[in-house]
Amino acid sequence: MTPAGFGFRKRFLLMEMPILSANSRTTLLFRPARSLNGREVGPRMRPRRRFSMAAAAVGTVILIAAGFSGTGSLSACDAVAVDHAAVLSITGEELHDAVAFLADDAREGREAGKPGGQAAAEFLRGELEKLGLKPAGSDGFFQPFGDGYRNLLAEWPADVAADAEILVVGAHYDHVGYGSKRNTRDGPGLIHNGADDNASGTAGVLEIAEAFTVLGRPTRRKILFAFWDAEEKGLLGSRHWVENPTRPFDKVRFLINMDMIGRLRDGRVEVYGVRSSFGLREMLAGLNRETDLRLDYSWWNRGDSDHAPFFRKDVPYLLFHTGMHDDYHAATDDTEKINVEGMVAVARLVFELVLTLADRGEPIAFRSAAKNESAKDWDALFAEPKPWRDRTGMATEDYSPPESGGLAVRISQVRPESPAARAGLETGWHVEAVDGVPVTSAERLTAYLLLTRCPAVRLTLSLADGTRAERDLVLEGEPLRLGMQWQQDDAEPHGIVVTHVLSGSPAEQAGIRAGDYVFAVNGEPLNEPHRFEKILERTAAPFTLLVERQGRLKTVSVEDVRDATGRASPSP
Ligand SMILES: [Zn+2]
Repeated sequence: MTPAGFGFRKRFLLMEMPILSANSRTTLLFRPARSLNGREVGPRMRPRRRFSMAAAAVGTVILIAAGFSGTGSLSACDAVAVDHAAVLSITGEELHDAVAFLADDAREGREAGKPGGQAAAEFLRGELEKLGLKPAGSDGFFQPFGDGYRNLLAEWPADVAADAEILVVGAHYDHVGYGSKRNTRDGPGLIHNGADDNASGTAGVLEIAEAFTVLGRPTRRKILFAFWDAEEKGLLGSRHWVENPTRPFDKVRFLINMDMIGRLRDGRVEVYGVRSSFGLREMLAGLNRETDLRLDYSWWNRGDSDHAPFFRKDVPYLLFHTGMHDDYHAATDDTEKINVEGMVAVARLVFELVLTLADRGEPIAFRSAAKNESAKDWDALFAEPKPWRDRTGMATEDYSPPESGGLAVRISQVRPESPAARAGLETGWHVEAVDGVPVTSAERLTAYLLLTRCPAVRLTLSLADGTRAERDLVLEGEPLRLGMQWQQDDAEPHGIVVTHVLSGSPAEQAGIRAGDYVFAVNGEPLNEPHRFEKILERTAAPFTLLVERQGRLKTVSVEDVRDATGRASPSP
């Protein structure tokens, strides 16, 4: 493994949190996901050629699936059938068989330059020949380098001129052989079959290459299928190709890396690089509807696999990885432990992704800010919320009076000339109830006062001398409608990221969480900055939010329901 070597300087631009205006007492309900048609999802998204859902389910499904793809000479109907067949050509049996061959003891752990590694390379060459792909190495499919090492490269043609842009879809096929002190967990001397690391990714690239032959038409961009050698010796194969590209490096627009896709657990796939270009998260969410994987995005640009040399040279990338396990770099990383169905799902999703990127009309840009981002920047999004809108001019805190030991909510601050000051409230008083409903915490009280549609509330107070009093507090400004904070995210130009959700708020009741992305409101795409705020400003509830969490889309309905009192829900 090589160290990441990328900086941690924060450059993620935090945009000002907008504050909503309008009426409230909203009750949010989870609704079964509602289909959005293509128009609702966005003007860029046109009806898309889809596979199994299109064939198996209703026609609207074709329209839902976020079609980011660009050109295609076939009619939509024809293309649906063709894509369907291409996706279905990725089978568990074939994936399993490729892994089984590569991870057989006879391959002796596929160490680069050793007989087992050479045998693996010959197998891959045979498979590429069978598929009828065009060799794209320096010596047929091979690109020899170093101490008997060989990358393999094959090309899928583009439908335009020879100078077409290139996508690279790769995986390393080597492993650590019998292991050395440096690279094995359980001691050298045993055959390390490397079924997951990385016979799985190798089999995935083979199956995706085959799926393109089933698709049977050139794509807008060229696709280079790459099998890297000597990754385990320090990313030697991918580094060598980047330094000695067999196709013009300045045409490479994207790199997809599959490293260890054979141990899917709970549907969870780690995805790296999602911020190295624009809109990738939105794109993957649209493509993942059928595979329904849990895409665990990281802002960490890990440097320990073959995407790293490309990323260093400003090529956007995605790395798919089904996670670490006890057999990692151990002699027990065997074929029997592979989750074959999991590999099918990952490989099908990646095929869809490659096809979408390959055909996309708009350019694929590198997002250089990704070089300065880390997982810490993601965490920083969810630090303290910005101050919520102030409707009272007072601050409250949870307080445990020494005499009673119970819990009280104490007024800790009263701003002069504020509604609280006008109501005669004083620092140190305890708020016992609002409109007769007991107060349970400062946070809940704050949420209640931010969300209530009543223009005034009656507070029951316990004064400094212990006596009780009631005061009417006239609230300033409009109540919050959703009770959440969010930011624009330049990496996802058609979405906002939720950063904070107010306790007890409609957003919380709807199940929205910090970290969720919203890509549409009432079917309208968020296709320009601050579109979300603009739609909310001019729209009455109910709202329908298209929410993405971990690669899964969900439609959440927000209704504006209130009782006769106009009270916020839930209680303070
Ligand atoms: Zn490894």
